Amino acid sequence: MDCQEVHKFVHPYLDGEFVEDDRVAFAAHLSGCERCRRVVRFEEQFKEKLRASATPLPAAPGRLRARVGSLLAEEGAREEKRRRRRWTLRLVPALAMAAALAIALGVTLRKAGAPPAEQQLAEQSVRWHRTALPLDVTDSRGGKIQQFFRDKVPFAVRLPRLRNKDAHLVGARLTQLRGQQAVYLTYQVGGQRVSFFVVDPHTLPSRQRQPRWRGVQGYNVGTYVSGGTGYAVTSEMDRRRLVRLISHRD
Ligand SMILES: [Zn+2]
Repeated sequence: MDCQEVHKFVHPYLDGEFVEDDRVAFAAHLSGCERCRRVVRFEEQFKEKLRASATPLPAAPGRLRARVGSLLAEEGAREEKRRRRRWTLRLVPALAMAAALAIALGVTLRKAGAPPAEQQLAEQSVRWHRTALPLDVTDSRGGKIQQFFRDKVPFAVRLPRLRNKDAHLVGARLTQLRGQQAVYLTYQVGGQRVSFFVVDPHTLPSRQRQPRWRGVQGYNVGTYVSGGTGYAVTSEMDRRRLVRLISHRD
């Protein structure tokens, strides 16, 4: 098992989904690779924090819970019927009340479907940015970095075109965003760290030239496609400066 596989399967490993042989191979790699140990430790701590923050509120009396649950189910079914008939959506006081009760009782209202792909990508890029993972290659010359990744990822690694003359490339490493390979580039811009994730443009469903900005845990993340390459830029730098940094004239 190599580093790449370890990074790819860290979640199934931590979730105990490995068969014995794979688990042994995984552990064997970890025992000899400090970098992967750091990745696994980070993911483990992240999962623990997630679990800790998801600690349920004190349980509501069983019958009340059941009542709220069935109210939600009934209203959900009715709502579905209304939608199918294409009736105008109206306020549904009973549903609103049930939802408020559910929140008060700590009953989770599940949203349909997973969060949009780009939102997940943004959240993950913030996690990598915060971790400041060790670099595979340290070089300020873009050409050297592009050369390093030439045979390592299935897409062209073009460095982002940056406006600021004081943006200094520090280095890069291979990483993953949403299970897809990505090249992580780290820059220093006026004393602040700016991370760029170079991704296959197909990873960004909107594929737009104009960056789409999101705020994630106090960080700004912009996703965009330029010259056939996908980018996610992540930094604590304020959004206006980031917009300026990545804007350039063709
Ligand atoms: Zn490794």
